[in-house]
Amino acid sequence: MAANILLVEDEPAIQELLAFNVTQCGFKPIKASDGESAMAAINRELPDLILLDWMLPGASGVEIARRLRTDARTRDIPIIMLTARTDERDKVLGLESGADDYITKPFSPRELMARIRAVLRRRLPQVSDETVRAGGLELSPITHRVMANDVTVEIGPTEFRLLHFFMTHQERVYTRAQLLDQVWGDHVFVEERTVDVHIRRLRQALEPSRLDSLIQTVRGSGYRLSLN
Ligand code: CA
Repeated sequence: MAANILLVEDEPAIQELLAFNVTQCGFKPIKASDGESAMAAINRELPDLILLDWMLPGASGVEIARRLRTDARTRDIPIIMLTARTDERDKVLGLESGADDYITKPFSPRELMARIRAVLRRRLPQVSDETVRAGGLELSPITHRVMANDVTVEIGPTEFRLLHFFMTHQERVYTRAQLLDQVWGDHVFVEERTVDVHIRRLRQALEPSRLDSLIQTVRGSGYRLSLN
């Protein structure tokens, strides 16, 4: 699944360069030129990662990062701060504001992409390409294949993403709203009962292997994948 990367950068030439490189790496760029347009983009769709320029018109990158970290919905979005500043104190300030990593302009596109991949791997295992396993299930993001006790499972694209998310976040309960944000990337335009529909389909797909019991309903809270 292609990660959405929000690019918050006010200089058009750098914005274009970032968008080009992000697209080349198979990610989907979303563009914003200041704090206000960034917040509007985040309200429409939760990005998987934010590349945040420090020097912006209006609120600075540091202020935006702090704001994102205080909101439960945006708290966990990985942030890489972009800056022309090389001062060590600035680096500390950037990281203290909640950035996961920090890159100084001018940057090499290759280094930037390596950092993006490293942060995604660490923070968002569901957008990584690694095969994941859980209690008789094996899911490969590269081949888009799910095996249940060594038998191929026929599964739709949304169920695939849902299962990938659960397998990379085992034993944790997620509300419908959280699943919409994490799996659909959108909490505004999709109804919460949509989640129930896809959970049902996912269980049906796993039923022949009897692994449907891994997907558990937690009454009053939501859903989880549990081996217990
Ligand atoms: Ca700037």
